[in-house]
Amino acid sequence: MTVQPQDRMSSFESVTFFFRQAAERLKLPDGITEMLQWPWRELKVVVPLRRDNGSVEVLHGFRVQHNGARGPYKGGVRFHPNADLDEVRALAALMTWKTAVIDVPFGGAKGAVQCSPGLLSQRELNQLTRTYTQSIAHLLGVTRDIAAPDVGTNAQTMAWMMDAYGRIEGYSPAIVTGKPVELGGSLGREAATGRGVAYGLAEWARLTGYHLPGKRVAIQGSGNVGSWAAWSLRELDCTIVATSDVRGGTFNARGLSVGGLLDHKGTAGAVADFPGGEAITNDELLALDCDILIPAAIENVITVDNVDRIKASVVVEAANHPVSPAADAILFERGATVIPDLLINAGGVVVSYFEWAQNIQQYRWELDRVNDELRKFMNRAVSDIHLRSQHGGLSLRGAAYECAVERVARAVELRGFV
Ligand code: GLU
Repeated sequence: MTVQPQDRMSSFESVTFFFRQAAERLKLPDGITEMLQWPWRELKVVVPLRRDNGSVEVLHGFRVQHNGARGPYKGGVRFHPNADLDEVRALAALMTWKTAVIDVPFGGAKGAVQCSPGLLSQRELNQLTRTYTQSIAHLLGVTRDIAAPDVGTNAQTMAWMMDAYGRIEGYSPAIVTGKPVELGGSLGREAATGRGVAYGLAEWARLTGYHLPGKRVAIQGSGNVGSWAAWSLRELDCTIVATSDVRGGTFNARGLSVGGLLDHKGTAGAVADFPGGEAITNDELLALDCDILIPAAIENVITVDNVDRIKASVVVEAANHPVSPAADAILFERGATVIPDLLINAGGVVVSYFEWAQNIQQYRWELDRVNDELRKFMNRAVSDIHLRSQHGGLSLRGAAYECAVERVARAVELRGFV
């Protein structure tokens, strides 16, 4: 197969590629297209860290605010060794389109610190989170820019961010979402992205007549998103045949016990040697004979190099940007359905919106209310995008970008920015 040029694209170029396709279809004027393509503000900071052994390490951090036309900037903070400015830009842009397509009143942002959180102690993580927060605090604000967890960060990280910000500006729980429930976090926020994936997939299945029970599902990644997606899909009677973490995966054609696996991961720290399955690599997991493949870890795992080996007819992007544009085009031509990141993994930011609203109102919702409202947001967006894709002969990704770009362009026009 000839490698298409777009597979050489960086992460930001890839997201821009999808955006520009939508902007062209919508016939946006060139100036508006440029304005929506580029991040509105970018900050690069140095994060010096005193290691437990006394040495000083200098880490690099970023906060990119991509677009604020529809509301305060919103997006997670990632701790990962490969997080660079290009990736943070891509993820910030994706948040702009995600918040628009799922219709929560936010713009898009993302932050990161280049580090390996698994190799740092709790004291080191606490200190680096505080230093990073202090360095970007002038950009943050309850109605300006609100952070959340992402790859390599969690509720504890958000508690430290909230505390570091509070020391400068005073007690402000709504400055972060995804914080511990004891500090004003929302019930159901931790599970929200994985649960939202299951709600969205169930709605897509209902609309298209796809029979979900008994379908064989392979999930790459067993972090927060992957493990909650596994739980929620088991509740829909899917058979989880494989899952993995960075060290490798486990496979059982008859179905893995999700509870047993998560217990094992909790005690042994890795899924590969789970006694209820056979060890496989992450590459083998992607190529498994299964019905539904769910990349739920990092970006760019399905590219022209392995797309020919993908056997699943439904790919559900629980991770952000797991499929390259060239691989996406090949899957579309092949007739596979890709349910795209900006739509299907939006459950996290939906419940972030609920958490922010609860904090501002100083009122707590019960879990059933959170989940019912999450289901409504997912169902509405999935059905809108399904209809748009049918009418326009577009992929679900094409339809989702088109809807998102149209909404953000309209907000820019209504506000009279230019
Ligand atoms: N990090 C999550 C995402 O990529 C959640 C963002 C948020 O809740 O602000 O969607």
